[in-house]
Amino acid sequence: MQRRYISVCLIGILILVWSGCDPKGQPDAATADKLRVVTTIGMITDIVKNVGSTRVEVTGIVKPGVDPHFYNPTPKDVEEFGSAHIIFYNGLYLEAKMADILANMSGDTLTVAVTDAVDRSLLLTPKEYEGLYDPHLWFDVKLWMQAVGKVRDALSEFDADNTVLYRSNAERYLTKLMALDEYVKSQVERVPSQQRVLVTAHDCFNYFGKAYGFEVRGLQGISTATEVGITDVQELATFIVERGISAIFVESSVSSRSLKAVKAAVEAKGFNVEIGGQLFTDAMGNEGTLEGTYIGMIRHNIDTIVHALIGESEL
Ligand SMILES: [Zn+2]
Repeated sequence: MQRRYISVCLIGILILVWSGCDPKGQPDAATADKLRVVTTIGMITDIVKNVGSTRVEVTGIVKPGVDPHFYNPTPKDVEEFGSAHIIFYNGLYLEAKMADILANMSGDTLTVAVTDAVDRSLLLTPKEYEGLYDPHLWFDVKLWMQAVGKVRDALSEFDADNTVLYRSNAERYLTKLMALDEYVKSQVERVPSQQRVLVTAHDCFNYFGKAYGFEVRGLQGISTATEVGITDVQELATFIVERGISAIFVESSVSSRSLKAVKAAVEAKGFNVEIGGQLFTDAMGNEGTLEGTYIGMIRHNIDTIVHALIGESEL
């Protein structure tokens, strides 16, 4: 048994020697000296793809439809983290169950919270989140543009030879995000101001509400880790009836069960509220689809919200 163990070790050492020893410093031919970047949520993966383009090999840990508040890294994820040159994550306690791993990465791996560059005075601190910042910055496109700047600067610092590429890629992407911000504003204009109320499964639209002039209500708190009680359902149903809200929205990364309970509670009060569609909130759509990009996801959300609230049947 011991001899077998020694043989396995020897083979391992030989492979390391043959492949260039340092797993971070000597990438193989297939990756041709690309930077190995690991990200948490898809919205950050999208930034890295756009800014890093051909220079990076990026792996996203939290997949489409998966809730980052609850996500527990697998042993394979931990391996991915360990082999990365750079890890980009949101921060502000979004990736609650990965916080320890991210905080304790070795000095070889650069670990960057993309929200670090954002002026703290621009962050929201809803009282129900007990003094923590609301982590859902990506719903304010202009605020999320600061995360793009953070990725650009970190890549440039780590790989200074390619600074010009990262800067021009970032500029191109930021121009698209400026246009996206304008698009969201123009769509919001189509909704009469008294109808600008967004009801969703959890409180992730506070930045959206502030940036684009919507009142927002979530059935659950900022994190999906909080429990939904009958009182919460009844209170939200009363709010919907009193305000005459025509549509509420389910989320791709949160169970729709409790929001359907709200719909039933509204109906029990003799009113009707539609499920206005599914929004991509803490996770993007599947790779290869329009909603699998940050721009596509934001456009899908605002189109779905506006069409449902003003009663258009077709997207
Ligand atoms: Zn969330």
